[in-house]
Formats: sequence, C-alpha cells, structure tokens
Amino acid sequence: MEKRNMYPEMPPLPGGMPDAPPSYNQSFNPSAPSSADMAAPMMSSYGPGGPRPQPIMVQTMAPPIPPLGPRPCLVVCPSCREQKMSNIRMESTTKTHLAALIMCLVGLCCCACIPYCVDSCKNANHYCGNCDAYLGSYSK
Ligand SMILES: [Zn+2]
Repeated sequence: MEKRNMYPEMPPLPGGMPDAPPSYNQSFNPSAPSSADMAAPMMSSYGPGGPRPQPIMVQTMAPPIPPLGPRPCLVVCPSCREQKMSNIRMESTTKTHLAALIMCLVGLCCCACIPYCVDSCKNANHYCGNCDAYLGSYSK
C-alpha cells in the first residue's frame, strides 16, 4: 500500500498544478486502450477460434479418371481440371512388336507391318484435349 504512494504517478502536490496531469492523461488515454483492444481480439481470434482453414483436403483431391476405353471419352483432366473429350493416340506396344515378330517367324514377313497398322494391336493412349496431359491408356 505504501509502495504505491512512492510512485511518481501520484501527484505530490494535489492543489499545485491541477491542469497538467489530467491533460496528459486525456491525450495519452485514447491511444493506449485502443491499441490494447486491438491486440486482445486478434489474439483470441487466432487462438481457440473456430475459423480454421479447411480447403486443404479439397485441394489435394484429384478427380478420378473413369475407366478408359478404346474411344475418346469425356474425362476430367487431373492436370487442368477441365472436362474435355480425350484425344487418343494409338501407340505400338511390346505386344505389337511381338505380333510382328511372330509374323516374321511364321514366314509372313510381308505381313509383319500389319500389327503396326492395325489399331487393335496397339494401346489407346488418352491425352487431355485441353492441356495434352497424359490421362491413361487402354489396352486390350
Ligand atoms: Zn488437361
């Protein structure tokens, strides 16, 4: 109790200069409490508050690609997220080379190029019609 009286905040002369201390407090008060009020709600909103960012789960979710067929199909591209008809490029696989090899071994060398010309011997690779990203391949 007595220590508080020791502080210089308490004017030692109550009747000497009544104007100086109140004017200083009035000019100082508006700034001090406002800054304190600003800090308090910010802290409370950050800490236990409900606003937690949730869309992280949605961001990583990639749209599933439906089973791809031998023909162009409507696919949601996981790369550009556009729903587009897929472009198909027939690419020869080891099965294609094997068929050509068998043709040669059987003696049908002239027919060895047939597997490379027949789409049924190749894989159908699907590419995005918008960004040309590889979507998947269909093999028989
Ligand atoms: Zn795309």
